[in-house]
Amino acid sequence: MTASPNLVLIAGTGRSGSTLLGLMLGSAEGAFYLGEVAARYRPWRRHHFVLECRGCGGVCETWERLRDLPERGLHRGVARRLGVRHVVDSSKYLPWIWDSDRRARRQGLAVHHVAIWKEPEDLAYSIWKRGGPIGRWERVFASYYRRYFELGLPFVATSYRRLASEPEASLAALCAAVGVPYRPEMLRFWEQPHHHLFASANVRVGGGRPIRPTRLPPVFRDLWADQPPPRPATARLIEELRAREAADGAGPRAAAPARRLPPRWYFKARAVRAFQRFRPETWEPPSYRLEALAEPEDGATEAASGGGGVSCGP
Ligand SMILES: [Zn+2]
Repeated sequence: MTASPNLVLIAGTGRSGSTLLGLMLGSAEGAFYLGEVAARYRPWRRHHFVLECRGCGGVCETWERLRDLPERGLHRGVARRLGVRHVVDSSKYLPWIWDSDRRARRQGLAVHHVAIWKEPEDLAYSIWKRGGPIGRWERVFASYYRRYFELGLPFVATSYRRLASEPEASLAALCAAVGVPYRPEMLRFWEQPHHHLFASANVRVGGGRPIRPTRLPPVFRDLWADQPPPRPATARLIEELRAREAADGAGPRAAAPARRLPPRWYFKARAVRAFQRFRPETWEPPSYRLEALAEPEDGATEAASGGGGVSCGP
């Protein structure tokens, strides 16, 4: 291995398609997808205390080789032990992204950031169909991407809708922006073994299907039509994300000046997460509003996220 390893850190709200993107990038030649590995080191739900590979559905030989890696040596250690050139992490948790970026750079890794995002109505639908209020999308969206931008890290963006409607072109452009070699097999990620942790179980690896655009049912469209437009501050975040769309040829660029120290909310978020280790949540599967529509928005089969494993391809 001559060049230094490449760490790709995926950011995005819940239900943004980050697991799907992680599996695709992790299907590149010489790549390994970790899933939402931050939860292993900074747990906040009960199931985070169990090392369960989503690919193997439980005990996993790959993770047996990795399980003793400390947080500070994780990304570099994965590259060394598995002999991979690209390590993909879709933890999304912002303090983890900040810490991983700093640490990996100090250790000589190349670091690339990708933000995946859903159009407002698609994100609203993901929340609504799981029983949440239709208007919640804006708080989720705005608080996440505003903070992400404040980190001042250079990133490229990919819109889930764009990725789903023009998968080859979008993924190839994204790969070029993050230094990962593209190959068409990445779109059929389920044909390869994966060993990711904690990420969305909605994405079925075994017998998977290609990514496809979110289909909004008429009952939701009617509700959405009555929703107010996004606030100006949220609309600006959406514009920023669009301006960094990898499929339009955008290269990595920060949305705010680079900073030496993290923003103030980082310290509070870390403190809250450290406390959650001792008071972890129990994850409950969502109750879907429309069972018939629990057909997935992201090329997937609905299953209990955080619960049972997902078997990997042959
Ligand atoms: Zn495994």
